[in-house]
Amino acid sequence: AKVKEVDFVKSSNRAKDCPKDGRPEFAMLGRSNVGKSSLINFLVRKKDVALTSKKPGKTQLINHFLINKSWYIVDLPGYGLAFFLIQLTYIYSFANAPESARMDWSSFTKGYFLNRETLVSVLLLVDASVPPQKIDLDCANWLGRNNIPMTFVFTKCDKMKGGKGKRPYENIRDYQELIRENYRHHPPWIMTSTVTGLGRDELLLHMSQLRNY
Ligand code: GDP
Repeated sequence: AKVKEVDFVKSSNRAKDCPKDGRPEFAMLGRSNVGKSSLINFLVRKKDVALTSKKPGKTQLINHFLINKSWYIVDLPGYGLAFFLIQLTYIYSFANAPESARMDWSSFTKGYFLNRETLVSVLLLVDASVPPQKIDLDCANWLGRNNIPMTFVFTKCDKMKGGKGKRPYENIRDYQELIRENYRHHPPWIMTSTVTGLGRDELLLHMSQLRNY
């Protein structure tokens, strides 16, 4: 499970426009500031791979990075400023994007998550250093209700020691408890830190196992 090569392939706005080569993919999803760009750069050991998805204007929604010419890491925009769940209707907007970049989260989720046959698993990034956030729980519950395979990737686990509030393990346990009714089994979970290097090998191995499953 080594990353030898990484190529940015394309940005797409809709599932329809995504690569059609049938290669398996993992979608990285999480709140803005959760550490998604850091994690992608950490996984591929490159400094600025995930920068592409941060440039306003240039950015589209779904960014495909081809790993070792055989599978994809898909960078999805961070949710956060406006992410309202009204039954199945989500409204989505970029942190610093103009009105025109707003989109209907509902059509995005239906279009991408529900129809992307090559999606092996969503990697839902969650900050382990803070207690469970409603927006993350909504997202995890939505994925569970729609039977979309999901792996919890806890970020910033180095911040778990000392400090105030609950320890990371408690936060992780609370997440599993709070989404329980929407999952038949607890989703797999992996602890990471781009500061200490925790979880990189484990996450790469996990993805390789899921691809070969
Ligand atoms: P994004 O908005 O989800 O792409 O988040 P970034 O990757 O830009 O990270 C947001 C902030 O969290 C930055 O200040 C990072 O330095 C910090 N950060 C990211 N990963 C870690 C981590 O593993 N540990 C700690 N302590 N901070 C992190």
